[in-house]
Amino acid sequence: MPATRLKVPYVALASQYAAIKAEVMAAVEEVIDSGQFILGPQVDELEAKFAAMCGAKYALGVADGTDALILPMRGLGIGAGDEVIVPPNSYLASASAVALAGATPVFVDVRDDYNLDPDKIAAAITPRTKAIVAVHLTGRPADMKAIQQVADAYKLLVFEDAAQAVGATYEGRGVGSFGIAAGFSLHPLKNLAAAGDGGMITTNDEQLYQYLRKARTHGHRNRDECEFWSFNSRLDTLQAAILLVKMRYIDAWTQRRRQIASMYQDALKDFVWVPTDKAHEKAVYHTFIIQTERRDALKQWLAERDIDTKVHYPIPIHLQDSAAYLGYKKGDFPVTERHTETMMSLPVFPELADEQIAYVCESIRAFFQQ
Ligand SMILES: *Cc1c(COP(=O)(O)O)cnc(C)c1O
Repeated sequence: MPATRLKVPYVALASQYAAIKAEVMAAVEEVIDSGQFILGPQVDELEAKFAAMCGAKYALGVADGTDALILPMRGLGIGAGDEVIVPPNSYLASASAVALAGATPVFVDVRDDYNLDPDKIAAAITPRTKAIVAVHLTGRPADMKAIQQVADAYKLLVFEDAAQAVGATYEGRGVGSFGIAAGFSLHPLKNLAAAGDGGMITTNDEQLYQYLRKARTHGHRNRDECEFWSFNSRLDTLQAAILLVKMRYIDAWTQRRRQIASMYQDALKDFVWVPTDKAHEKAVYHTFIIQTERRDALKQWLAERDIDTKVHYPIPIHLQDSAAYLGYKKGDFPVTERHTETMMSLPVFPELADEQIAYVCESIRAFFQQ
């Protein structure tokens, strides 16, 4: 064990501002002085930069990542009587968005990389199936080629839940450019983080984009006319201004996350299951999830050494009380359910110091060598 005992939090949200505080405060002041709090020019500027980053034609700021999934589904007519395929191991909003659009979530198990297993999708398709939600969980792109093949064969839409995957690529293409639409979250815990809630939709579909521009603002066609009832779901100008500052750093932060991941991979692969990138994918490591049969004991061991870890997620969505009406039971999704017993997320935020990472690795090795 290293001589010094360190404290390693799972996240340290304020620490990201230390290096960029002057820039952020100047951007905030500019918005306050302008008085343009709703859909000010910073929102347009962020949307343009975000679309370019993803390689998508359009990006549209909304209130949060959940609305960024619901609004495009509504826009494409997904609702009552429709079924939409989603993975059961995700943040629950991947499924609640489907339900809140009025449709029924249908779960399909994942692979060992936590993303939808394309080989299991066909068996879940019925005449009512309209779409697949491909979640890029942990910041690793889902297998878009294989998923698109199934979707094409059955004439289904593909939505991307890219909430955790800002900047990830698959075969060199940005996530958010594959599906009919993608939803990103800009929540403070996500890789590109607002100082509050925020979300972004990307799409290449001009017609959907025109719908969404109205859909995020009550269905207004213009100031006085309303075309259809809709939500009030906009990204604040203040958040856009802060995010524009952070966009200057997102590549460097992503690089650091990937560097931390590679340090963990090298140090831990002989002791626990570690995630690795396939040749065609660039993951952005929103989370770094290891697996071990001795998860609970290891988690406790690390907690005793001031190292905070999490489980993403301890209860799969199909076993949540909110999903009881769908009629699933324990045993329905063996891969996901096995993961809930063995998964553990290590701290992976860009501001982690090398010595903290070394301390985490040392502590895990010490656990297995005791
Ligand atoms: C965070 C998250 C969401 C929801 O985003 P919010 O901004 O919190 O509404 C949806 N899906 C996944 C996979 C997420 O991680």
